[in-house]
Parts: sequence; C-alpha cells; structure tokens
Amino acid sequence: MTVAAFLAQKFPEHRALRRDIHAHPELGFEEVRTAGLVAQRLRAAGYTVTEGIAKTGLVATLTRGEGPAIGLRADMDALPMEERTNLPHASRTEGVFHGCGHDGHTTSLLATAEALAAHGSFAGTVHLIFQPAEEGLSGGLRMVEEGLFDRFPCDRIYGFHNMPLLPMGHAGVRPGPAMASSDGFVLRFSGKGGHAAMPHLGQDIALLMSEITLAAQSLVSRGVNPLHAAVLSVTQMHVGTAHNVIAGEGWMSGTIRCLDPGDRATIEDRFRALITHHAQARDIEVEIEWVRGYPPLANDPAAAAHALSVLSSDAAPVTASQADPLMAAEDFAYMLDTVPGAYFFFGMAVEGEDNPMVHHPAYDFRDELIPIIAESMVALVESELPA
Ligand SMILES: [Zn+2]
Ligand SMILES: [Zn+2]
Repeated sequence: MTVAAFLAQKFPEHRALRRDIHAHPELGFEEVRTAGLVAQRLRAAGYTVTEGIAKTGLVATLTRGEGPAIGLRADMDALPMEERTNLPHASRTEGVFHGCGHDGHTTSLLATAEALAAHGSFAGTVHLIFQPAEEGLSGGLRMVEEGLFDRFPCDRIYGFHNMPLLPMGHAGVRPGPAMASSDGFVLRFSGKGGHAAMPHLGQDIALLMSEITLAAQSLVSRGVNPLHAAVLSVTQMHVGTAHNVIAGEGWMSGTIRCLDPGDRATIEDRFRALITHHAQARDIEVEIEWVRGYPPLANDPAAAAHALSVLSSDAAPVTASQADPLMAAEDFAYMLDTVPGAYFFFGMAVEGEDNPMVHHPAYDFRDELIPIIAESMVALVESELPA
C-alpha cells in the first residue's frame, strides 16, 4: 500500500480525531487530554513516547537502521477566545477555541507518524515533537530549555502551519527570515495634572503621549534599512477623565515586529532614548516596561531550499513556491535558533468559500488538509533519510 492510499483509508478516523480535539480545546500548558490522545496512538503505532517535556509536551521517536535524525514539530494549544462557527464539532469549552488550527497540526503530525510507521521507507531516526503553548506562552522555548535537542538530537527540524491566505494544495516556503520578532511595550506616565484652562501650571500627559506616538513612527522609516521590514504600532492610549482636566496619569502600549535581530535591537535602543528624552523635556515621569516576545524566525537557507524542492516534486501532493515573509511571530523560532531547519505554510483556501484567517472566530481547520500535510511530511522525511 502507498502512503497516499494508507492516508486515504485512515482519513475518516483522522477527521474524527481532529474534530474531537477541536471540540475539546485546551490552553497552553494545559493540553493534558490532547497529549494523552496523541501519546496513546503513537505508542500503538510503534513509537517510543517521552511525555512531560515542557509540562504537556511530548516527543515520539522511531528509528530504522542507520542514518541522520530529523525532527518534525506540531503545536497543540488552543486560543483564549470564543468560537463562532456553529459547527457540530464546535468547542465545548467556553472561551477556548482552536482558532489557529493547532488541532489540525496535531492530527496531521499524528497522521504523518502513522503513515511513516506503516509505509514509510527511511533509514535513520524520526523525532516527532508535539509542542505545548505556542500562542504567546513560549512552549517551544521551554522545550529547548528542558533539553529537547540534547535528549533528542536532530540534524534538521521542520515545522508547518496552515495558511488561509494560500490556496489548498499549495505550499509556501521562505529561505532566510520568514517571520518576525514580537516585542511589546507599556509606558506609564505620571506628572502634575491640573485645570485645562491653566496648562502652564501642570504637565500635559496627553500631549506627551501624542508626541511619542508621532515620533515613534520615524523609528522604522528613518532607522531601518528600507529593504528590511519592521512594524511599530501604538495600539493603546489611555488618558484623562474629563474635558476640562489635564490628566496627571496615563499609559500607552504597542507592538514592534522585526525580521532582523539587528533592527530589533536598534529600534529598542532608539525608542527607549526617544521616550526618555521626550518625557524629560516635559518634566514627566515615565516607566518603560519592555515585553520581550518571540525572536525572528529564520529558516536555514539549505533546509528551506530542500523543503521547497521536495514539496515542488511529484513526491508531495502539493505545488510549492517561495513565500513572502509574515510579520506575525511563531515560537518555532526558538527551535530554529538551536537546530537548522525550516518552517513553511500549507495553503487552505478554497475558491468560492469564506476562508477566515487564523484567530478569526469563524475559522476552522479544513480536514482535507490532513492527508496533504501528512503525505508531504512523509516525503520530506524520506528525502532526508534515504533508505
Ligand atoms: Zn495562532
Ligand atoms: Zn498557530
């Protein structure tokens, strides 16, 4: 039996599993039920399963003969948001929703595991990494810190995400920087407010916040090479209580995204200086809280080129092309900072249908993508670990 025929035969089972995980979503580091389901099936397929890495994460290992080791990673967590799909398999847990399709990623990697064990042809070791807490909680970093690649050494690693902006049956791969860092800032101001008709007696925090917001827009346009990409967005400004009172307190926050680690450091330095100097000029106290998020995700050029060639070939049931980078962030970046590899996207858009983006309340992973991802990932393993 071919891998494709095996996946076609197993499709009803995999679809039911994906919908079951969707109906029972779990937040980061709470993926106990999901991890349990996955571990049980992986053991039944002949894998050695190590649980409890980064609390709810697990690694499943299969070795055949002599050869290199490849790691494949999927994320398992859901989002803290309400689902609005009205589907029969909609979330049964209020306020928790698989709005990013990690239910589909988990199931697709499990389908990959089963297909590899049953019909894969390879020589070497496959480590399947089921990661918790991708959505902002750094589950990937925690797995690395808990010795993931010391315990399960990998020569190369691959990760993937579904992508409603690309057509179903198409994959997008980007060599080099592919996704952005994600840092946040919160600025808290305190000064002397007062009567709005006597501004010279107080210190105007609303004016200072406006000055900082406008000046910050020059950090990207004047501080970053125009051929690079960076985003600085001020997203919250909270100040004032009445039309005739100058506010004595206020706070603002926002996000900074960069593809280049050097730009990330430059923007932070210059923004800190800009905030401090503007505040000093107005004699207003400011407290800067820097919320350091995920680093930029950089694909190893050789691994990305390899993935692109395999996904473009007849061995995979997709077409593939080089994708634009995304300014969203992804914590597979921590794994790619440790082991060379690549992260890429499987298109999920169907023409003539609504294709809500991930994190939209009407989003749902399309089950037809499970065998497409699994067959592609099997092809990637077989190309990396020729029998
Ligand atoms: Zn997400
Ligand atoms: Zn996601």
